[in-house]
Amino acid sequence: MTSAQPNNIRFSLVIIILVLLIFLGGIFLGLAIRTRTLLHETILSQARSHFQNIVLTRSWNAQQGGVYVRKTKGMESNPYLENPDIVTRDGQVYTKKNPALMTREISELAAQKDGMRFHITSLKPLNPDNRADPFETAALQAFENGKQEVSQLVERDGRPVLRYMAPLVTTSDCLDCHRQQGYQVGDIRGGISVSIPIQELQQQLQRNMLAIGLYGIVVTLALVVTIYLLIVRMVRLLNQARATVEKLAVSDGLTGIYNRRHGMELLTIELSKAQRLGHPLCCLLIDIDYFKQINDSYGHAAGDQVLIGLTAELQKELRRYDILFRYGGEEFVVIFPGQGLADARGCAERLRQACADLQVPIDTGKQSIQVTLSGGLTALREGEDSSEAILKRADIALYQAKDGGRNRINEML
Ligand code: GH3
Ligand code: MG
Ligand code: MG
Repeated sequence: MTSAQPNNIRFSLVIIILVLLIFLGGIFLGLAIRTRTLLHETILSQARSHFQNIVLTRSWNAQQGGVYVRKTKGMESNPYLENPDIVTRDGQVYTKKNPALMTREISELAAQKDGMRFHITSLKPLNPDNRADPFETAALQAFENGKQEVSQLVERDGRPVLRYMAPLVTTSDCLDCHRQQGYQVGDIRGGISVSIPIQELQQQLQRNMLAIGLYGIVVTLALVVTIYLLIVRMVRLLNQARATVEKLAVSDGLTGIYNRRHGMELLTIELSKAQRLGHPLCCLLIDIDYFKQINDSYGHAAGDQVLIGLTAELQKELRRYDILFRYGGEEFVVIFPGQGLADARGCAERLRQACADLQVPIDTGKQSIQVTLSGGLTALREGEDSSEAILKRADIALYQAKDGGRNRINEML
């Protein structure tokens, strides 16, 4: 693997993880915003229902012209009504609860129970207690400009509260009490504001957000780790595959030694290296003697076995930096980098002898084949940089070795 590749992989991994984080972050952020919006809408629709209920109750009360209830101890009569109390023949006192008073009392009751409040208010209230606060004043002015409802999240005593307000439209029932204020049917006479404490809901929302966030982090981490492991595994497999392909590209399919194309490349490199450094270099061209007869006598498969066995044997005899490659059918080249003719001659002779001594087993060991080789040895000339020229000389020397009776090494300088 080149040094740029790990960086590329790391860069791709970072990009994938970043895209994933942005994607998942977007999903979870969207989910959190949607949850908040839903909660807000739920509370708002709760406020609308409360408003509608109170309007209905007031409407019922107004249709009855107010409702008399038995006046119990401590109960005050409505000071804004003329003759709010009546006394029955048997001396019981009943006092009139009109829509405004009823609304206020329900509001007080609700505030005691769950902190929710109603407030009936108007820009021109009969009862000064029903004066509009700043939120209500702004809402009432908005109703006069055609707005249907107003809502706002505010802080009250350090706690979050949803304030909602919708207009009260004058009906004929309302005129009994409010005619003297100059209202007509259809006029917006005021409004009812509903305040709902939302601290508990907000805490639930925060817990939800936290759970969503934690879930998001866990899912993201799991995905990142999975992707990381998959990529690492994929890279390892790719590297193995590439190493195999690279090896196959330079190897001979039968013997496993370097193939001709790669061998010739190495020869060119070694030649120029030797010329540059002024080092000696020798080259040996080998050809197996009477190999055709081996094929003819024992079959092609046995011939293959001989080629495999012989190359393995030659490889054993060579130094680590000598290069052996298959030049053709039963022809091989050995490059001796850094070796002068005397050393190369010794080495070539060793190879010839090793071949002559070799018994290659065939037929699962029942028989063995013995072959000899002939070789043409040559040395790099000063200033020579052509691999073809050096091989041409080695080929002439090989031809002479064949001509001279085979199983021998000839030289051509
Ligand atoms: P010489 O001593 O003159 O070199 O005789 P030779 O029979 O070896 O010469 P020749 O070049 O006529 O024959 C080489 C034979 O090698 C011919 C071919 O069938 C055989 N051969 C080439 N490649 C392979 C191979 O991969 N496997 C096998 N089994 N035989 C091969
Ligand atoms: Mg040949
Ligand atoms: Mg031959």
